[in-house]
Amino acid sequence: MSPTRRQIVLGTLMGAGCLARPSFAQTVLKSSDAEAQMRGYVADASQADKARFPQYRKGQHCGNCAMFLGQPGQASAECPLFAGKQVKASGWCSAWAKSDGQ
Ligand code: SF4
Repeated sequence: MSPTRRQIVLGTLMGAGCLARPSFAQTVLKSSDAEAQMRGYVADASQADKARFPQYRKGQHCGNCAMFLGQPGQASAECPLFAGKQVKASGWCSAWAKSDGQ
């Protein structure tokens, strides 16, 4: 069965990147966002405000937090604390919690 004209046109456009696929990509949380500031989120854990959050320990970051919903090695992923936004694996916030895998 040969492809229809419609299939050929769509295939050509998709191959050329002319058709945008629906995107459900979330925006990445910024440390300047109000909800981030409330919890002291920073995209680089080493920049955590140690005076405000003395519980911070070197080595803690979103990527090894129990709340991080990404796979190991994933640069950013969802965190239930910040609905609709992703956090950087390298980030940190005051709700960091040790994951079972540690
Ligand atoms: Fe990162 Fe964990 Fe804070 Fe979420 S709860 S922002 S994964 S440190």
